[in-house]
Amino acid sequence: MTQDYDYIVAGAGMVGSAIAMGLAGRGRRVLMLDGADTDFRAAKANFGLVWVQGKGYGNVHYQRLSHEAATLWPAFAAELQRESGIDLQYESRGGLHFCLGEAEWEDRARRMRAWEGNTPERPSCVEMLDRGALLRRFPGLRLGDDVSGGSFGATDGHVNPLRLLAALQSAYQGRGGRLVSQHRVDAIAPAPGGGFTVSAGKDRYRAGRVIVTAGLGSNDLNPMVGLDIRLRPQRGQVLVTERLAPMLPVPASGVRQTGDGTVLVGLTQEEVGYDITTTAVAATRMARKALCVLPDLAGARLVRQWSCLRVMTQDGCPVYAESATQPGAWTALCHSGVTLASFHAGPLAQAIDGGGLPLSFSDRLPRRRAGAAIAAAAGAQHPSSTATADLAAWSSFLDAFNHERFDVSQAA
Ligand SMILES: Cc1cc2nc3c(=O)[nH]c(=O)nc-3n(C[C@H](O)[C@H](O)[C@H](O)COP(=O)(O)OP(=O)(O)OC[C@H]3O[C@@H](n4cnc5c(N)ncnc54)[C@H](O)[C@@H]3O)c2cc1C
Repeated sequence: MTQDYDYIVAGAGMVGSAIAMGLAGRGRRVLMLDGADTDFRAAKANFGLVWVQGKGYGNVHYQRLSHEAATLWPAFAAELQRESGIDLQYESRGGLHFCLGEAEWEDRARRMRAWEGNTPERPSCVEMLDRGALLRRFPGLRLGDDVSGGSFGATDGHVNPLRLLAALQSAYQGRGGRLVSQHRVDAIAPAPGGGFTVSAGKDRYRAGRVIVTAGLGSNDLNPMVGLDIRLRPQRGQVLVTERLAPMLPVPASGVRQTGDGTVLVGLTQEEVGYDITTTAVAATRMARKALCVLPDLAGARLVRQWSCLRVMTQDGCPVYAESATQPGAWTALCHSGVTLASFHAGPLAQAIDGGGLPLSFSDRLPRRRAGAAIAAAAGAQHPSSTATADLAAWSSFLDAFNHERFDVSQAA
C-alpha cells in the first residue's frame, strides 16, 4: 500500500518539532499535525534552561542522557541557527544553583558529590563555590547577604525557548517537512495493508509510522496505538520583570536573565491537576527567594506572571517507546524538552528511523519489543561525547534504560 507519508508526528511542541526536524533531515516524508491554541503547550511557557547539574538524580541513565544532550547542543544550535536564520540566544557558559545559608550549601555539596559519583567515567562538571569564590568568579555579581555560595555547572546553559521552537519548525519545513497547525489529531488506527490512518477533523492522512508527541494530549492518543503510559500535569509558575541592565552573567536554577534583558523568576512544582491559575502565594514566595539572591531586583517592575503544566511521566524520566501491539507507532515524552532537543533531533530521530529500537525505560509498557537487543544491553556504556553520536552506541545506551526502575521522588 502506498503511504502518503513515511511519518506522521502528532503534536508540534518541543519534542515533536525536534524529532520531525531530524526525520526530515534524513529525507523522510513527514507530516506534523498540531492541536489548538487552547492546548497545554509547555513549549511556549518554559524557562529555557539547557540544564545538566543534578539532572537525573537517582537515575544514572537519565543523568548520562542529559550530559550527552548538553554535549550535542553547541553543534545542534549552530546548525539550527544556520538553517533557520533565527538567533536562538543560546549560551553555554555554565549555570549556577544558589544556596542560602551554610546548611543549604553543605546539603548541596553532598548532593552534587553523590550525583557526580554515579558517573565516574565522566570528568567532573560541577564545582561548589563558597560565597567568596563565587564573587571572585563573577566579580560584577551583587548577592544578598544570605547567599552562602552555590554549585556551578560548567555544562549548563540557556536558550530562548520560543525562538528554539520557531527555529525547529522553520528548519523542519526547510527540509521539506509539512506542518499543519490547528489540526488536532482525533484518531489513529491501523490502515488496511499496513501503516496508520490518522484522522484530524474531517481530514484523513496515511503514513507508515506515527509518532505521538502531543505532550499532555498524548494521554488521549497513546491508548489508540496500544501505549499505556499515563502522564500527569505538574504546574510551574514563572514571574517576568521588565528589561534590566545585565545583572546575572549565567543562568541559575530559579532565576535567569534572558538575551532581551528580562529576568525570569521561578519555578514552582505544584500537583494541582490541570489548573493553570497563577497565584499570589506563589508569586510572593518566588519573589522573596529571588530578592534574597539578587537584592537589586527589588526595584524591578514585574510585567507578567504565567503558569504552565509540565509533562510528567510516572517516574519523571523520559519515555521513548514503540508500541508492542502496533509496531510503527511511537511516543516520546519528557519534562526537559529544551535540554533534550539536541538529542531528539539527532540520535533519537536517527534511532527511530533506524528501525524499531526498544527505547522506553518505562516499566509500564504492556510488552517490550526486540528482547534480544534489551538483553544485549545489560552492560551498556554511554556513548562517547562526540557531536555526531554513533547509532550503535546510542542504541545500547538507550536500551539500558529498560533495566531500571526509578524512585519518582528522586527524579530531577
Ligand atoms: C514552567 C515550565 C518550565 C520548564 N522549564 C524547562 C527548562 O528550563 N528546560 C527544559 O529542558 N524543559 C523545561 N520545561 C519542560 C519543557 O517545556 C517540556 O519538556 C516540553 O515542552 C515538552 O514538549 P512536548 O512536545 O512533549 O509538549 P508540548 O511542548 O506541551 O507540546 C505538545 C503539543 O502537542 C499539541 N497537541 C496536543 N494534543 C494534540 C492532538 N490531539 N493532536 C495534535 N497535536 C496535539 C499541542 O497543541 C502542543 O503544540 C518546562 C516546562 C514548564 C511547564
